[in-house]
Amino acid sequence: QIHYDILIIGAGPIGMACAIEAQKANLSYVIIEKGALVNSLFNYPVFMTFFSTSQKLEIGGVPFVTISPKPNRNEAVEYYRRVAEKFGLNINLFEKVKQVNKNEAEIFEVETSKTHYTAKNVIVATGFYDVPLLMNIPGENLPKVTHYYKDPHLYAFQNVVVVGANNSGVDAALETYRKGAHVTMVIRSSELGPHVKYWVRPDIENRIKEGSITAYFNAELLEIRENEVDINTTDGTKTIPNDFVIAMTGYQPDFSMLRKFGIELPESLCPVYNEETMETNVKGLYLAGVVCGGLDTHKLFIENSRVHAEMIVRNITK
Ligand code: FAD
Repeated sequence: QIHYDILIIGAGPIGMACAIEAQKANLSYVIIEKGALVNSLFNYPVFMTFFSTSQKLEIGGVPFVTISPKPNRNEAVEYYRRVAEKFGLNINLFEKVKQVNKNEAEIFEVETSKTHYTAKNVIVATGFYDVPLLMNIPGENLPKVTHYYKDPHLYAFQNVVVVGANNSGVDAALETYRKGAHVTMVIRSSELGPHVKYWVRPDIENRIKEGSITAYFNAELLEIRENEVDINTTDGTKTIPNDFVIAMTGYQPDFSMLRKFGIELPESLCPVYNEETMETNVKGLYLAGVVCGGLDTHKLFIENSRVHAEMIVRNITK
C-alpha cells in the first residue's frame, strides 16, 4: 500500500494549489481525481467567460496570460493543464475516492475506485459542481432536461425553458436565444440574480424588455412533459410547447460524502472547520476550496480560497 504525507481529493484549481504547496514543503502527496484534470471547469459551458480576471485565477505563482481581462473556459482549462505539467504534479485521474477512515494508529485509510492508500493527512477539495439542486417536479428526469448546460448549438430553433436567473441561467438564455432558440425563462424571485456579471446584466435586461426572451418572474415550473411544460405564473398556470429544459437551479457540495468521512455538518449544512487552519473536527482531515462554503456557494471562489492551500500546509509542517 502506498503511503503519503498528504492525500488530496479533487484536482480542481484548489486541490492543485494544495499539491503545489505540499511539493514546495517537500511533503509526499497525491491528488486523486474522479474525472479529468479540473473536471468542473472541463464541464462548464464551452463559451463560458469567468467573472474573475485571469490574475485572480492564478495558482503556484504562474502567470495566467490572456489578451482580454477575463478568460474563458477553454483558456482556463489549458492554463491549469500547463500548471500541472510545469510542476509535474502527482495526479491520479479517473479514480474516485469512496471512503476515508482513520485507524487506531491515527493514519487515514483511503479507499478509491481502483485501490487503497494510507496518508497522514487528507485534504478534501471536492468543490460543489457534482450535485445539482433538483426542482423535484414531475418530468425532471426526462432526457430533454439538463442541469449541465454545455453548448447552445444543440438548442437551435427549439422551444427552450431556462429555469433560474443567476449567471448560469442568464448565460444559457442569451446564448441559446442567439442560436435561434425560442427562450422562456422561469424565475422564482421577482428579479434577476444579484451576482449576474455586471457586463451581461444590461444584455439580458434589454432582451427581456424588448420581448426577444420571455421571462416569468415570481414563477415556478410545475411539470415537464414530452412536448410541453406547465408554469405557475402570477397570471395563473400557463402551458407552453417545449423541447428542452435547462435547469440552472444551482449545485451543492456532496454532503453525504462529507458526513461519510466523519466531518461534522450542523443544520445549516456549513461544514465545521477551523478558519485559521482549515482542519475539520477530524484531526488531520482538512477542507479546501469552495466545498467549505456549504450551501452558500457564492461565498468562496478561486481568488479567495487559493489561500487555503498555504494555510493547510503551514499547519501540517508546523
Ligand atoms: P472544483 O473545481 O469543483 O474541483 C473539485 C474536484 O473534485 C472536481 O474536479 C471533482 O471531479 C473532484 N471530486 C469530487 N468528488 C471526488 C471524489 N469523491 N473523488 C475524487 N475526486 C472528486 N469561480 C471563480 O473564482 N471565478 C469564476 O469566474 C467562476 N465561474 C464559475 C462558473 C460556473 C459555471 C461555475 C459552476 C462555477 C464558477 N466558479 C467560479 C466557481 C468555481 O467552480 C470554483 O471557484 C472552482 O472550480 C473551485 O475550485 P475547487 O478546486 O474548490 O473545486
